[in-house]
Amino acid sequence: MEELKKDTVEERSLNFLEEIIESDLASGKYKTVLTRFPPEPNGYLHIGHAKSICLNFGLAKKYGGKTNLRFDDTNPTKEDVEYVDSIKGDVNWLGFQWEKELYASDYFEQLYEWAQELIKKGLAYVDDQTQEEIRLNRGTVNQPGKESPYRNRGVEENLLIFSEMRAGKYKDGDKVLRAKLDMAHSNMLMRDPILYRIIHAHHHRTGDKWCIYPMYDYAHGQSDSLENITHSICTLEFDVHRPLYDWFIEKLGIFPSHQYEFARLNLTYTIMSKRKLLELVKNNYVSGWDDPRMPTICGLRRRGYTPESIRLFADKVGVAKRDNIIDLSLLEWCVREDLNKRANRYMAVLNPVKLVITNYPEGQTEYFTPTINPEDPQAGVRQVPFTRELYIEQNDFMENPPKKYFRLQPGGEVRLKFSYIIKCEEVIKNEAGDVVEIRCSYDPTTRPGDGIWRSVKGTIHWVSVEHAKEVEVRLFDRLFTEAEMDSIPEGSDYKNYLDPHSLEIVKGYTEPSLLEDNSGIAVQFERVGYFVKDIDSTPEKPVYNRTVGLKSTW
Ligand code: ATP
Ligand code: MG
Repeated sequence: MEELKKDTVEERSLNFLEEIIESDLASGKYKTVLTRFPPEPNGYLHIGHAKSICLNFGLAKKYGGKTNLRFDDTNPTKEDVEYVDSIKGDVNWLGFQWEKELYASDYFEQLYEWAQELIKKGLAYVDDQTQEEIRLNRGTVNQPGKESPYRNRGVEENLLIFSEMRAGKYKDGDKVLRAKLDMAHSNMLMRDPILYRIIHAHHHRTGDKWCIYPMYDYAHGQSDSLENITHSICTLEFDVHRPLYDWFIEKLGIFPSHQYEFARLNLTYTIMSKRKLLELVKNNYVSGWDDPRMPTICGLRRRGYTPESIRLFADKVGVAKRDNIIDLSLLEWCVREDLNKRANRYMAVLNPVKLVITNYPEGQTEYFTPTINPEDPQAGVRQVPFTRELYIEQNDFMENPPKKYFRLQPGGEVRLKFSYIIKCEEVIKNEAGDVVEIRCSYDPTTRPGDGIWRSVKGTIHWVSVEHAKEVEVRLFDRLFTEAEMDSIPEGSDYKNYLDPHSLEIVKGYTEPSLLEDNSGIAVQFERVGYFVKDIDSTPEKPVYNRTVGLKSTW
């Protein structure tokens, strides 16, 4: 971590994508840089997508280029406008503005014409085999596949059947259009890949206009090419698709976009499969896509993460060429780093025990005025009321403490943050033996500013009982118990690793000025952590989500 902290954007050397771009610009291969972010609108974006967004938009920006937002909407059964809208909102929230908003479905007509062109060139054919037959005849890594009996259909017949497929003459699965490549190719994806399949389904944009839909491999590269994308960046598992990407572009003689692969982001204690995230939402394991424990961008936002912290994280993670897994604590470090600079400070007590200052006048209130953010010289002060009865945290008091315990203990002294030094005189317990009240005396000469300076080892936070505001506090923790969720035993259900303690709800008491905070970002509860107001808040019951503790507990 230390190492990561030191390294800044300025200091680090070029990553491999920057090297490629610089050399392409220097050689004149491309005049400008045009990238794209190509989500499939079949779920909400997660932190892995955020990495890809920061990379695509960041690279273009660095080299004076532009980035398109292209929805890869070629699979009508799983896609929806709800997802389109959320994706646009999330990309904007992260701080990026796309050049054009585009949809692969806008290219359906062009893709269809190009498919006809491939048929005419003898490079594509209609196959009547069942899906099962196609799968079996594809061969294995060690065995060549078997050519389809329909592989040598004439051009005219292919064109006719393909147009009938489009016209809706056939049922789902009856026929597919395949590229005529090489059934013995060492790359299985090059063994006559499927270009089109029949799906009689309503598409969220094209409605019922189409009943044949292009496959990812047939749509993606050509969409890039149509937009003059120069550097098409995707994750590592697509490297085996690259020869096919290049083949279509070459055979169609269209703009030469190029694909480059980088390692996808993996995080400890996190899953990023959209299918699994959807399952967690559908089956109510979490409260929704924006549950603050979800790795989704909307979940992180609700948790109190800032766009700045996520961009910082993407930068720290860098661009790798080999798969790895990033420690979740790096993400937490990034949000602390950002919020430490910007978050307003308030005192809040989450596990209260009452403390009475017996020599402080009853009915008296005095105000302390600490700065609202010590990291920001411009920040003003707040008014913190102090009275005879206070709440402190239960764990800031110990009756029989170990040696190095510097907080409150019988006969011991601590400073109340921003306020006086107090001494514990007496402890009141209930019948069960729980501490219900701590009686203290205070030393009036220790008032900060005008008092006599005297130091004690411990400082604890507090809230005036009379002025305290009650808030609900949601203490979130990581969602899973296992660090490497991709390495759980084969066949075991990832849901068995959900942490039952990932959410604890407590009642907290805060100083009153918290409720007037309108910074719009998370605040710091002094000595505790960063917390953000939740959308479930009402005027009667404010709700705060714990973004992250003040220190790493790892
Ligand atoms: P699926 O294709 O299974 O629905 P996906 O995560 O690949 O899921 P896409 O919507 O296709 O989702 O992804 C959009 C872009 O985000 C792609 O370029 C993809 O490579 C990139 N991306 C997705 N997951 C990650 C990740 N974990 N790290 C980095 N980039 C990612
Ligand atoms: Mg994908």
